[in-house]
Amino acid sequence: MRKFKTESKKLLHLMVHSIYTNREIFLRELISNASDSLDKLYMKSLENDDKSIVRGDLEILLKTDKDARTITISDNGIGMTAEELEKNLGTIAHSGSLEFKEGEDAKKLDGIDIIGQFGVGFYSAFMVADKVTVISKAYGSDQANMWESDGVEGYTISEAERDGRGTDVILHLRDDEGEDDYTSFLQDYTIRSLVRRYSDYIHYPIRMDAVISKPKPKPEDAGDDYKTEYEDVVERETLNSMIPIWTKKRSEVTDEEYNEFYKSTFHDNEDPLRIITLHAEGTMEYDALLFIPKKAPYDLYNKDFKSGLALYSSNVMIMEHCEDLLPDCFRFVRGVVDSADLNLNISREMLQHDRQLKAIERRIEKKVKSELADIRDNDRDAYVKFFEEFGPTIKYGIYSTFGAQGDLLNDLLIFDSAKENKMITLDEYNQAAGEDQKHIYYASGDSVERLAKAPSTRAVLDAGYDVLLCSDNIDEFCLMSVREYGEKDLKNVAAGDLDLEDETDKEDAERLNEENKDFFTDMQNVLPEDITKVVAAPFLSDDIASAIVADGPMSIGMEKYMNSLPESQRGDQKPQHILQLNTTHAAYKKLKEAYDGDDIAKAETLIKILYDQALLAEGLPLGDPTEFNQAVLSLME
Ligand code: ADP
Repeated sequence: MRKFKTESKKLLHLMVHSIYTNREIFLRELISNASDSLDKLYMKSLENDDKSIVRGDLEILLKTDKDARTITISDNGIGMTAEELEKNLGTIAHSGSLEFKEGEDAKKLDGIDIIGQFGVGFYSAFMVADKVTVISKAYGSDQANMWESDGVEGYTISEAERDGRGTDVILHLRDDEGEDDYTSFLQDYTIRSLVRRYSDYIHYPIRMDAVISKPKPKPEDAGDDYKTEYEDVVERETLNSMIPIWTKKRSEVTDEEYNEFYKSTFHDNEDPLRIITLHAEGTMEYDALLFIPKKAPYDLYNKDFKSGLALYSSNVMIMEHCEDLLPDCFRFVRGVVDSADLNLNISREMLQHDRQLKAIERRIEKKVKSELADIRDNDRDAYVKFFEEFGPTIKYGIYSTFGAQGDLLNDLLIFDSAKENKMITLDEYNQAAGEDQKHIYYASGDSVERLAKAPSTRAVLDAGYDVLLCSDNIDEFCLMSVREYGEKDLKNVAAGDLDLEDETDKEDAERLNEENKDFFTDMQNVLPEDITKVVAAPFLSDDIASAIVADGPMSIGMEKYMNSLPESQRGDQKPQHILQLNTTHAAYKKLKEAYDGDDIAKAETLIKILYDQALLAEGLPLGDPTEFNQAVLSLME
């Protein structure tokens, strides 16, 4: 017996004993090797001008034997000599680039899921088999050879018989053990579905002799009561469709075909919103076929949601969900990337893969953005619907990178405009605002309708500026990360100084604050601790007597969000507010009269009502609703 090289032994051990459960990929790996061997043979025949080799004869044949518990993967490809069996199967190719370490590192390696990411080729056979026999006859040779191994210590090579050129890989399946079910791999339908799933687009036919129950021909003398009889016949069926839809030119495929492919592959019952095709040439060649769905899947916001694109290398799927190909902010995009330049072998430079994937990701990111921008500009209704479904993902992308992805994503935001009663982009806001306006105003809360009526929104609208009404929880966090857009900074209307008043207004307010210093301080003292200041606000709308704005870093919107969390998660920071009094309002005059007339009890009642009203208008909870009710009723007595 010949011994495996150390690193091969380690990899084999790791694979067989790893927690990795996706064993079914062994079939994809072996089919892909078979397909490579057909490619190699075909290229060789062109080189040698060997007319005896006809492309149409090249095929991969699958066979199962339930009694012997074997699966055989055969090809009539280039085959291997005894030396090649030794060289190719005795050691994992170029495995030097992957260091197998002992102890902790080895455990980590399990987690990296190397098998799932890049495949480990031929050795994956040992995930399901406790013995593998390879019988191969090389192109141009008369002698067949057999390689055999239990995948533990080593292997044997001996002379053997085989009819023609090519290779049979015979897997002797392991016995079922507990939850580990290997027997199911012997079922025709399992094989069929695995081929469809992973190897559908292999460009050689993958065939299998299947037993099919067929109706017998109706005898000529059959009477009226003849019942159709069935018989089992063995038919050679081709399991794969062979043509990848993504390698076809866009003009050769109808939208209908793309839609069908999308629905069946990504399990959606609606057509996609957008079909995107990409063909890259140059240093790195690849095709991508991407889809923007219409509806968010129910689990899009679950942490278990599997995002990413299916990654193919020369029509063989190497990863079902490759996250490295898609930025997280576009995690809703579905699709396939196929690049012949990526190979299936983990043993090739991992870093190289990373760099290649990064380059593809950047291109995809740009492309998805431009397609979304196109929908935004040319079909606003569709975009509004899209944004309802996937807007939070984009907003989260801005927030979670602290605005670093702003260049990519800010343009894609839309919000309700208080002035225009429709959803607009930040750019559209700026266009309408004109250059002189310094800020983009926004209000954040739980309902657009309520926000439109809030005193702080009204004050800004009265001053002639539009306000974006943001009712998603994430909005405020997102806009704080955007910070500024088109040289205007973003200002929360409920966050203190709104920079609204013109100079005379400002002077007015300052004068009033100065004149009423003691009055305002006394009023602040009877209010709860969150009020840090009581100030004059002659600029408030005529029908608004009082308003509350945030003082300090916690805006009203954030405060509401905090209120929605369990107490233990709210943190130590307490919200602080400024109470603004509309000095032109009749209520203010009443308050001032009571105070000046030394009716302190009445002044206290009135200021508390003004405070509670301001809380209500912003949708904040009252400290003591009963006290508020009583105070209001006392005015009616
Ligand atoms: P690779 O990623 O290179 O295919 P594998 O471990 O799967 O790595 O296979 C090692 C080598 O064994 C292949 O590169 C190929 O030369 C050879 N080989 C495997 N299967 C076949 C086959 N069916 N026919 C011919 N050669 C094969």
